[in-house]
Amino acid sequence: MSLKLEENLKHLYQDVLSRNPGETEFHQAALEVFETLNPVMAKHPEIVRKKILQRICEPERQIIFRVPWIDDRGEVQVNRGFRVEFNSALGPYKGGIRFHPSVNLSVIKFLGFEQIFKNALTGLPIGGGKGGSDFDPKDKSDNEIMRFCQSFMTELYRHIGEHTDVPAGDIGVGAREIGYMFGQYKRITNRFESGVFTGKGIGWGGSLARKEATGYGTVFFTEEMLQARGDSLAGKKVVVSGSGNVAIYAIEKAMTYGAKVIACSDSSGFIVDEKGINLDILKRLKEVEYSRIEKYTEEVAGAKFFKDGSIWSVPCDVALPCATQNELNGKDAEMLVKNGCKALAEGANMPCTPDAIRILQQASLAYGPGKAANAGGVATSALEMQQNASRDSWTHDYTEARLKEIMVNIHQNCYETAEAYGCPNDYVMGANIAGFLRVSQAMCAMGVI
Ligand code: GLU
Repeated sequence: MSLKLEENLKHLYQDVLSRNPGETEFHQAALEVFETLNPVMAKHPEIVRKKILQRICEPERQIIFRVPWIDDRGEVQVNRGFRVEFNSALGPYKGGIRFHPSVNLSVIKFLGFEQIFKNALTGLPIGGGKGGSDFDPKDKSDNEIMRFCQSFMTELYRHIGEHTDVPAGDIGVGAREIGYMFGQYKRITNRFESGVFTGKGIGWGGSLARKEATGYGTVFFTEEMLQARGDSLAGKKVVVSGSGNVAIYAIEKAMTYGAKVIACSDSSGFIVDEKGINLDILKRLKEVEYSRIEKYTEEVAGAKFFKDGSIWSVPCDVALPCATQNELNGKDAEMLVKNGCKALAEGANMPCTPDAIRILQQASLAYGPGKAANAGGVATSALEMQQNASRDSWTHDYTEARLKEIMVNIHQNCYETAEAYGCPNDYVMGANIAGFLRVSQAMCAMGVI
C-alpha cells in the first residue's frame, strides 16, 4: 500500500481490499484514485462525514449471470456474463460491454469504477457502469457471435433501459455485436428504445463520429496537453499500441495534426513503418479483412514486423497506448523517457502500470490518464443519447465539434483542478479530483442512498 495515503484513506483502502479479495485490477484502480484524494478530504469535511468514498467504492448493483449458447457443431457452451451498475448519481449507468477471455468480476469492477469518474468529467448526465463476458469472439463464426449476443441479452435486457442503464461497445464488442444485442432487446421488450444502447449503426439510431470518437478525443486531449507546454503534435513521431477502433482513429487524427505515426500493434506483435503508417491499408486489414498486423509488412515495402519485444522500445515523441490494461510497464516507461518521449495519453483504460505512471510523472512527461484522455468515446455516446431522445441526427462535423469542445473542457478542468489543489501539471490529480467532486456533490445532495 502506498505510504502517501493519510490514515483515514489508508483504512478505507484496507477496507476495499478486505471486502473485495483477489480483485487485483479493481484494487489497482481504486488505489490510483485514493492516492489523489488527501487534499480533497482535508478541504471537504462533508464528503468525509457522509462517507461518500465508502459508498462510491461499493457498486450499487452487481449482476453475474449464465450465458448458455450453442456452437456451430451443435455443442452447448457456457460463459459468464457481468454487469456492474456502479454509480447513478449523475445519470443512468453508462459504460461499455467487453467480450474477452480475461474478463472477470475484478476487470469489470475496475472498468466500472474508472467509468464513474470519466463520465463525470465529460460534464454530461451519465452515471458509471460496465459489463462483459469471458466469451472469446476470436475465430467464432458470425452465427456463433449472434447466438451468443442473443443469449447474453436474454438475461441482460431486464436490467437495462434508456433511463436505467445504457451499455455500449468495448474490446470485442463493435457495431455487429451491438446490432445483435439491440435486436434481441427490441424483440424481447417489443420496444424500439433507441436510447438503450449506444454505438448503434448509423441507419438505426447511431451517431456519426461515435466510431471515431475515442481515438479522436485522445488526440484532442494530447494536443491540449502539448499546447499547455507551448508545443504541439505537428511534426511529432507517434507510437500507438493496438489496431482496433481506438488506435485506428487516434492514428487518423494524429496525422491530421501533422504528426507521423510510425508504429502500431495487435496481440501477435507490432509493426514499424518509418515512412509513416499507411492508414488505408491498415483500415482494410483490420476493419475489413480482420487480418493479423504482420500482413501490413507484405503490402508495404520497408515496414518491419516484430513478434517479440515491446512497441515502447520504438523511439517516439508521443506515446498513445490504445490496446488494453497494464500493457505498458515500468521498463517500458523507462525506455520512453530515455528515448526523449514528451507526452503520453491513454486511449485504453488503465494501460500503464502504477510503476510506469510513477516513472513518467517523475520525468515530467505530459501524462494524460485514461479517465480524461479517452473520455471522448463515452462523451459521444451521451451525444448519441441526446440525438435519440430528440429523434434527431446530427452531422459528422457538428458532432465532432461538440466532441472537441468536450475534450478541451476536460483538459482545462483537469489542468485547473490540479493547480487549485496544489499539484500543477498533474493530470492524474486533476482528473480524479474533478471527477470525484462532481459525483460527491450530487451524492451529498441526494441523501443516504
Ligand atoms: N467502452 C468505452 C469506454 O471505456 C465507451 C463506453 C460508452 O460509450 O458507454 O469508455
